[in-house]
Amino acid sequence: MNATTAKTNLLGLTRAELEAFVANMGEKPFRARQLMKWLYKRHVADFDQMTDLAKSFRAKLVEVAEVAVPEITMTQVSADGTRKWLLAMNTSEGVKQGIEMVFIPEPGRGTLCISSQVGCAMDCTFCSTAQQGFNRNLNAAEIVGQVWLANKELGYQHGGDRVVTNIVFMGMGEPLANYRNVVPATEILMDDLGFDISRRRVTVSTSGLVPQMLKLAEETNCALAVSLHAPNDTLRDELVPINRKHKIAELLDACWVYVNKQNARSITFEYVMLDGVNDHPEHAYELVALLKGRPAKLNLIPFNPFPGTRYKRSSAAAIERFRDILNANGVIATTRRTRGDDIDAACGQLVGRVHDRTTVRLGSKLISVAVQ
Ligand code: SAH
Repeated sequence: MNATTAKTNLLGLTRAELEAFVANMGEKPFRARQLMKWLYKRHVADFDQMTDLAKSFRAKLVEVAEVAVPEITMTQVSADGTRKWLLAMNTSEGVKQGIEMVFIPEPGRGTLCISSQVGCAMDCTFCSTAQQGFNRNLNAAEIVGQVWLANKELGYQHGGDRVVTNIVFMGMGEPLANYRNVVPATEILMDDLGFDISRRRVTVSTSGLVPQMLKLAEETNCALAVSLHAPNDTLRDELVPINRKHKIAELLDACWVYVNKQNARSITFEYVMLDGVNDHPEHAYELVALLKGRPAKLNLIPFNPFPGTRYKRSSAAAIERFRDILNANGVIATTRRTRGDDIDAACGQLVGRVHDRTTVRLGSKLISVAVQ
């Protein structure tokens, strides 16, 4: 498609942008609200079915706009109900590369884990996405499109309960390195005319891009999770290389600014449990010194191994001991239950199977993922 024929994907437009878009077409702003109702409440993508819009407007929309969602190349359903989709995205080289999306059902809620980039540039040593390097940012429509697609796949019907109640940006990519697209996407997710998800249920997870965290504190009001993974700079420099630029003290200061500005209850800190690396009792005591008395919750994540990794998952006993030290010393810590183990549903796992990024043909599509 060349630039003159490119259609605007409406899933990437915030309410204000959609109003400007329809105004540009000579329509009144309330048409944008009608469109949003079709898109997000009735979950209709076909302009012809939007019967309260004038025929002439619908005909114009077909010319200039589209409602396009990512293409699914693989679906896996775990015995525990966890679902994982591999989605094919165009790369800057014009081939397809996979990103992943995971749905985790729990009593009373359903969490969707979405991606913000194709690949990632942060280079965390224990993360399989890092092995693939960075390809490109997803645009807002590709981010929102994941949520739209998941709702469709999970059978959302107009008037029915939404199955996706929580969104976490914990799939592939560093969301705050794609600030420009992630922020409008969160706006559409939280908009009452959009997905209408409450601000505490949309969580951006970051490896610690401090300037963008401070900007986020000013400009949005979603929840924040921070990938801490180490209690001191020596270890964090090694595991999460962005730490060489923004040290733990600076990162934590930004976290407390975020909590104050947002009037949020707390920040969730993610801590991947790596056997013999960051799981000693002394590490737990160091964490206590950093986080005690602060608005912080710690989420201990058992490491998910992938081919070629040098790390091992901490034993259940080590994780339990670590958690008990934290809890006994006034830091709230929980262990993340591993879900969908039978389908490698942990983030980074499906695409992470790539050893060698060979381009293969899947159906009629060229795809450069999932070759073992
Ligand atoms: N870039 C963002 C979001 C990415 S992934 C961030 O760093 O927060 C979401 C979480 O999964 C992060 O805490 C990340 O460190 C963690 N993670 C990555 N690889 C993992 C693995 N192999 N096992 C367990 N957790 C992992």
